[in-house]
Amino acid sequence: HPFAKKVTTLPKARYGGRHAVTMLPGGGIGPELMSYVKEVFKYGGVPVDFETVQIHPTSDSNEDLEYAITSIRRNGVGIKGNIETKSLDTSVISRNVAIRNQLDLFVNVVHCKSYAGVAGQHQNVDIVIVRQNTEGEYAMLEHESPPGVVESMKVITAQNSERVARYAFEFARKNNRKKVTTVHKANIMKLSDGLYLETARNVAKEYPEIQHNDMIIDNCCMQLVSNPHQFDVMSMPNLYGSIVSNVICGLIGGAGLLSGRNFGDYYAVFEPGTRNTGTAIAGKNIANPIAMLNASVDMLEYLNLKPYANTIKLAVEKTINEDLIHTPDLKGNASSLDVVQNIIRHVQTLSVKW
Ligand code: ATP
Repeated sequence: HPFAKKVTTLPKARYGGRHAVTMLPGGGIGPELMSYVKEVFKYGGVPVDFETVQIHPTSDSNEDLEYAITSIRRNGVGIKGNIETKSLDTSVISRNVAIRNQLDLFVNVVHCKSYAGVAGQHQNVDIVIVRQNTEGEYAMLEHESPPGVVESMKVITAQNSERVARYAFEFARKNNRKKVTTVHKANIMKLSDGLYLETARNVAKEYPEIQHNDMIIDNCCMQLVSNPHQFDVMSMPNLYGSIVSNVICGLIGGAGLLSGRNFGDYYAVFEPGTRNTGTAIAGKNIANPIAMLNASVDMLEYLNLKPYANTIKLAVEKTINEDLIHTPDLKGNASSLDVVQNIIRHVQTLSVKW
């Protein structure tokens, strides 16, 4: 669009002094996790109203999906669970991918920071994953021709590689981080990952104060498992980003703890870091509510509602690190509601102090 470049930020939707945010609960444990977010917001007096959009997993129509995307465009901000796509029609693409692509949410950021109260495989991990979020292996350009031969295209563009590399280095600069590691497989995928790596190296030249190195994805996984403390900020193409996020989250406490942020130039969507559906544990009052609550804290920070974000963040930290109230995924025996009620108790005390 000819005017698109002139707009740097869109105003966030507000009505009567309150923010409007799109909520996409998704499947599995998504709806229960969202109900915890709403409950905590209620007790914290958070001035946010949710516009909830359900996307039906088996529907072949894209009506719900289009409505969800329009809602995020209107509000500028969304929070989501994992949306299932169960249509038997192979032309119906993943709703999660469609949302990211249509809103051009080109980067996904997962801050993998250990909780002192959680005994993971490694302690004191503090890694920021900056992942390309809209192309690479997720281009969804596959065909079978002739039968028995499937071709699947991986798309890497200079423009998106540069945007992600720049995001990683800007993030490092603003947050006083010392090193960016670009992860790739350029020894085999010479053109695609080669372009990603070369672009990162060029961007790195503009940030002389930040150390830049690169690592092949295979070695990266081994290094992560044996010595994750060598990493600071990591930048990588889409599929490697998904795998590496899962590896690091697994090392420091699993799928129930960390959040992920999706950003484009205009919109932001917040969700649990490893994007699980959790079908097997849905409705059992055992899902860990922390990952989605952390996503809500990220969202409040983005909306510049810092005191509310800080209150919930502190209440979560006290619950996990001091009270040690943990769900079964963290080897505790608390229910989801035990965790949420304890967080609410802290939110109430902290809110009075504010
Ligand atoms: P699917 O729903 O796609 O069929 P699944 O429910 O078996 O898969 P995933 O959603 O991929 O599994 O999640 C991976 C693992 O992480 C599962 O063991 C799931 O129970 C666990 N998990 C995901 N989110 C949470 C959470 N918030 N709290 C506790 N465990 C979780």
